[in-house]
Amino acid sequence: MHANPGNVFMVVAPSGAGKSSLVKALLQQDPSILLSISCTTRAPRPGEEDGREYRFVSSDEFKRMREEQNLLEWAEVHGNFYGTPRDHIDNATREGRDVLLEIDWQGARQVKQRFPSAIGIFVLPPSIEELESRLKARGQDAPQVIARRLMAAGGEIAHAPECEYVIINQEFSVALSELMQIVSAARLRFSSQAARHAQLFAQLGIPAEH
Ligand code: GDP
Ligand code: ADP
Ligand code: 5GP
Repeated sequence: MHANPGNVFMVVAPSGAGKSSLVKALLQQDPSILLSISCTTRAPRPGEEDGREYRFVSSDEFKRMREEQNLLEWAEVHGNFYGTPRDHIDNATREGRDVLLEIDWQGARQVKQRFPSAIGIFVLPPSIEELESRLKARGQDAPQVIARRLMAAGGEIAHAPECEYVIINQEFSVALSELMQIVSAARLRFSSQAARHAQLFAQLGIPAEH
């Protein structure tokens, strides 16, 4: 029996680098990828909907999920708790579907322990000045929240070497195309192809991975 063909992608970036915009555009191009909806204790931004961007939960509810081992990983980021529900991802990878997580570096580390073949993709802004202007232009966070996120950006960026891939999000269309290429390359890895085309590989007498 070959390894599971589903890939786990983790998109990691400092706040404002453009990860949510890139992921949204990727999923429009390729709806077969399942997006993990995180739980968070942060308040919804204007326009955010419960169950779409996040499951917005109280601190008590988050604590309960943690205690009941319902979270694949969790972390405190910018003063709020964020976590990835376990069930959804376990089901998806079992069915061989690709899953994408938008999580911070602490979460990415935890997921790597559980799924060593998970693929980390770090999204960098073209400069710190541009990161600041994007956070301001997004216009969804209070000035002190933006200041806190900018202060944290350096610490997050220091973990870029833990990811397999890096995208510099300067020109959005270029960054999106690079993200799509990473997804395509992952699907062409020997283990993914062997699992997806098990019958052909058997007919051709191709030995299992060593
Ligand atoms: P954004 O960075 O501007 O998109 O702001 P968010 O408030 O949506 O996310 C804040 C941080 O929480 C980011 O660093 C995310 O990567 C991280 N994050 C979101 N969901 C999760 C999660 O399920 N687990 C972990 N560990 N981190 C998460
Ligand atoms: P994140 O999810 O990483 O916090 P967002 O996807 O919300 O980031 O992007 C932050 C802001 O920057 C948004 O207003 C978005 O429209 C804008 N943005 C994203 N990518 C680019 C880009 N390549 N050039 C200019 N603005 C961008
Ligand atoms: P925001 O509050 O701007 O939506 O997200 C802030 C940060 O939280 C981002 O860096 C995002 O990647 C991270 N984040 C969102 N969801 C999760 C999650 O489920 N787990 C972890 N570890 N980080 C998350």
